[in-house]
Formats: sequence, C-alpha cells, structure tokens
Amino acid sequence: MSAVARLDLDGRRIQPLTICMIGAGGFIGSHLCEKLMLETEHIVLAIDVYSDKIQHLLESGQPWNNRIEFHRLNIKNDPRLEGLIKLSDLVINLAAICTPADYNTRPLDTIYSNFIDALPVVRYCSDNGKRLIHFSTCEVYGKTIGSFLPKEHPLRQDPAFYVLKEDQSPCIFGPVEKQRWSYACAKQLIERVIYAEGAENALEFTIVRPFNWIGPRMDFIPGVDGPSEGVPRVLACFSNNLLRGEPLKLVDGGVSQRTFVYIKDAIEAVLLMIENPSRANGHIFNVGNPNNEVTVRELAELMSEIYCQVSGQPKLDNPTIDVSSKEFYGEGYDDSDKRIPDMTIIKQQLGWEPQTSLPDLLHTTLTYQHRTYAMAIKQVITKSVAS
Ligand code: NAD
Ligand code: UDP
Repeated sequence: MSAVARLDLDGRRIQPLTICMIGAGGFIGSHLCEKLMLETEHIVLAIDVYSDKIQHLLESGQPWNNRIEFHRLNIKNDPRLEGLIKLSDLVINLAAICTPADYNTRPLDTIYSNFIDALPVVRYCSDNGKRLIHFSTCEVYGKTIGSFLPKEHPLRQDPAFYVLKEDQSPCIFGPVEKQRWSYACAKQLIERVIYAEGAENALEFTIVRPFNWIGPRMDFIPGVDGPSEGVPRVLACFSNNLLRGEPLKLVDGGVSQRTFVYIKDAIEAVLLMIENPSRANGHIFNVGNPNNEVTVRELAELMSEIYCQVSGQPKLDNPTIDVSSKEFYGEGYDDSDKRIPDMTIIKQQLGWEPQTSLPDLLHTTLTYQHRTYAMAIKQVITKSVAS
C-alpha cells in the first residue's frame, strides 16, 4: 500500500477503523475484505460460519495478517457477538439467506435469517453507540407499479412507472401464499427497525440495497462446491449449465428484466460509505447499474456467446430451454418484473457511478468460472459416467 495519506470526500485524512463484518465469508464479504486489506489500513473482525472465500486473505505471511481476524461463529446463538461489536467502530451486516430458491421452500429459515437474526445486531449497535451499515436488497421494492398495467399500455414506458427510488417508490409484494416474498418482507421490516432506531435512539446507520451484484466467487457450482442440492442465483446457474455443456434454463420464458452491476464497482460504493460517515449516515442507497439492463433470456444469450469465446467451445444448437417456475423453484415462487435503480441519492451523497459494461463484466467473470471450475466439472462428469 502506498504511504500517501488517503483522504475522504471532504479532504479529511481517513483514520483506521476496526470493522466488525458479519457474513464476511460470503460473495460480497470476500470482495470487501480483499479491498480493505489491499487498499486501506482498516482492521477487520471477520465473522462467518464459512471461510473458504477469504482463505487466501487469512493465510500467514500476508502483509495484512495483523489486520484481519476470522471468527467462526453463527450469529443465531453465539454470545461472543456482542463482545466483537463492542470492540469495533463500525458494524457491517451481510449475513443472510439470500438465494431465491430458498425463499419459497425454506420461508421460516429465510425470515429468521433476514429479520430475527439481524435484530440483536441492530440492538447491540444501538445500545453500544456503534455505527451500522446493513445490507438490505433491491427486492424490497417488489414489483413495479407498471407491471399492473395492461401489457401494451403506453405508461409502461414511462420511468415514473418503473424506476425505483429509495425515498419515493412503494414496496409492492405478492400475496402471502406466494412465499417468494418472505425474504423481501423480512428485509423491509429490518430496514424499518433500523430506520426507527435512527429516529428514536440516534443509531447511526446506512442501508444498502444491492441490485444484482455479480462477479467471481458468487454462490457455488452445484456438485462441485457449496450445498449439493441447492439452487444458486442466476449467474451461477447459467455458469453451471455452460460448464457442463447443457442448455441454460429460462424460468417462465426468461422475460423478467434485471440490471447487473460488477462486484468491484459496487465495492467502491461500499468503501465510500465506510469512509464518509457524515455523507452516508441516515441514508438508504440503491447500488446498481441502470445501464446494464437485460431480460434473463438476453443474459443467457450473452453468457453463451461470451463463454464460447472464453472456453473455445462451440455454441450449442439449442443454447436455452424453457422451464416453468413451479418445476424449477416449486410452489410459491413469484418474480420481480424489472429493476432499474434510481441513482440520484448515491451520486449526490458519494459521487459514485458504476463503470463496467455487462459484456466486460461477464467476460471477466466467465474467464474466472472457466479457470476455476472447468477441470473439476470434467472430473465430476467422468465419475458419474463411470459409476
Ligand atoms: P452470500 O450468501 O454469499 O453471503 C452471506 C454470508 O453470510 C455467507 O457467507 C453466510 O455463511 C453468512 N451467514 C449467513 N447466516 C449466518 C449466520 N447465522 N452466522 C454467521 N454467518 C452467516 O450472499 P452475498 O451475495 O454476499 O450477500 C450479502 C448480503 O447482501 C445479504 O444480506 C444479501 O441479502 C444482500 N444482497 C446481495 C445481493 C447481490 O447481488 N449479491 C442482492 C441483494 C441483496
Ligand atoms: N432464472 C432463470 N434461470 C435460472 C436461474 C434464474 O431463468 O437458472 C431467473 C429467475 O427466475 C429470475 C432471474 O433469473 O427471473 C434472476 O434470478 P436470481 O436467482 O439471480 O435472483 P433475483 O434477481 O430474482 O433476486
């Protein structure tokens, strides 16, 4: 790291912080830990039940060894949590069940993880006067207002009917029997608790609403790492299909739209929040890339094309296959139709804008997926053919 003093957005020297990062071993946590170790002087107390994704940072002999400490603990039932929070200047809570395949099949675990387990973290921060950056989700917006208009209605093209604004848009979820919304509802309620702690007890907080952050180390490749039965998010599902030479499965026609942001762009935004509390406290921030919008079908086509370039494999004759949501996710699945983040607040407060185009970020990510998994997948396939 350079010896030049790092300054915040108002020209003040940034002082080293002790950060209690809960869920540090996950996808976002691993990138955030990497950024903090490589580019800052902050100390991280990393909490998670897994450490595989940050193992490279924990190995001895690294220049940051005395700045990162891993604590393997489950925040559901571990009395050490409050002590670690007391030792910190800032708490970042990333811990959650956050794969859609779980929302309708494990709704209780989803609600407990995203609401009940997050409550003591909020309380410890409030009681001990610690600043909190809490990870919520873009899914709290649910469906767009426009999705309730007839298909060809001209107002569907009006941004007022689909752009999602932190301080104006309503949160629109489906009926209770559509258990997909258990996650969004739990996240919304914990946001409201945090907001109320800010209003009534002066908790210093920032809430982050990620819009489909993707990149290397996201989720797992079924059969190679992670849970053998689980269904990961779309990037890992499609990567798995591509690595195995199978068609990509399009749920309910692949018509839903998403905006994808590169994890490394998004991590820049989080670092700005960490280091500029006076600009970030009391705010809810959308963090996404409105320029990278595609339908899921377009994403599948783009990933297939880029994976052929990266791996040298020929394109399949039928690169995609349609599957119903009931077949793929089971009863109670529902979907967000479209997610365009309004960027006004984050641009105004932190001057942050995403940089990386969808083709570029997919190229980097699929190169990583191919390098990391292609050989392991070959072995899994050979083994299952032989047995
Ligand atoms: P992730 O699943 O990769 O990371 C979550 C981590 O939390 C995992 O390592 C998990 O082991 C840990 N964890 C869960 N419960 C725990 C517990 N009880 N005790 C200790 N550790 C526990 O997910 P991610 O993509 O890194 O997401 C991080 C946060 O951001 C989540 O709160 C998620 O809801 C939110 N989010 C992410 C995205 C995205 O695009 N990646 C989108 C919306 C919201
Ligand atoms: N999806 C799909 N095929 C898959 C996995 C997901 O068509 O193999 C769709 C899913 O139905 C949703 C979108 O891709 O419309 C994004 O899903 P993801 O799991 O990444 O999470 P979400 O953005 O819905 O939170």
